[in-house]
Amino acid sequence: MPQYSLIIPIYNEEENISELYRRVSELMEQLDSSVELILINDGSRDRSLYMMRELHQKDPRVCYLSLARNFGHQVAVTAGLNFARGEAIIILDADLQDPPELIPQMLDKWREGYHVVYAQRIKRNKESWFKRFTAYVFYRILRRLADVDIPADTGDFCLMDRQIVDILNRMPERSRYIRGLRAWIGFRQTAVKFERDPRFAGEVKYTFRKSLSLALNSLIAFSRVPLRLSIYLGLFSAFLSACMALLVLYWRLHQPNSSLTGLATILIAVFFFGSVQLISIGILGEYIGRIYEEVKGRPIYTLAEVAGFESSSCSVNS
Ligand code: UDP
Ligand code: MG
Repeated sequence: MPQYSLIIPIYNEEENISELYRRVSELMEQLDSSVELILINDGSRDRSLYMMRELHQKDPRVCYLSLARNFGHQVAVTAGLNFARGEAIIILDADLQDPPELIPQMLDKWREGYHVVYAQRIKRNKESWFKRFTAYVFYRILRRLADVDIPADTGDFCLMDRQIVDILNRMPERSRYIRGLRAWIGFRQTAVKFERDPRFAGEVKYTFRKSLSLALNSLIAFSRVPLRLSIYLGLFSAFLSACMALLVLYWRLHQPNSSLTGLATILIAVFFFGSVQLISIGILGEYIGRIYEEVKGRPIYTLAEVAGFESSSCSVNS
């Protein structure tokens, strides 16, 4: 059984795989005991899968999973966690934004007795101001609204103890926000700080749409504040309409010939209450949509190919 598992999700990363393997194998040489490198192909359309097969033939420590289509980063990591066999499990990105050289430091903390060691960015090198700004704002909003304390500026780059991964694997939820679930589990957690490098090569695979959807998922999975927001909005508009009624009454009694009830006033009121209702229904819809997803109970992913895990049994929950 390997002592360490490295989990790396891969979506169209052909330009990065060789360099990734080079840097990760340097690290693997340093480690005191056996390692498995789990590469997860998340429905890549380039040569990534082919390169993974090659690596597996060349190096028996390399195992790989190939999902049957693109399921998204969080699901790819989930698949890797389901198969990992190590006592310490490390998740990192394929584009070398998460430096493998930080791992020995994480392992030290793990040996000190921490169950989760997450990497916290103190700086993002050469990322667009838009990405930095939206990420900054998002993590602060999430921290205010979420029920659990999700540390700011942390990604999925982390080390988790076997115990944590076993718990994660038993969580049946479909919309998986791993950073949040990891924080929810508890135990002893700590941070190591690092500067996030730019991508080694290739385009960002997290498009704005994917990031937005991840952000929404995390808010809805970890907070009920948006639901409460519709109560506040409703109370606010009820208060506003009561004020308006009093105002109209006052005008009727004291200025009988005022001509205030123009079409514009009515239209504004109609649109205002209409939008309050639509926003509330929209928020409800988001939560109900999640319930619907969970109730269907489909597997989280489908696998097309698995290699390298033959040496012993592994846990699969799909
Ligand atoms: N990724 C994936 N599936 C996707 C999108 C991304 O497995 O649908 C992987 C990608 O190959 C990379 C990691 O997730 O290893 C992070 O992606 P990216 O670098 O584009 O995101 P960012 O660093 O901007 O968060
Ligand atoms: Mg990246």
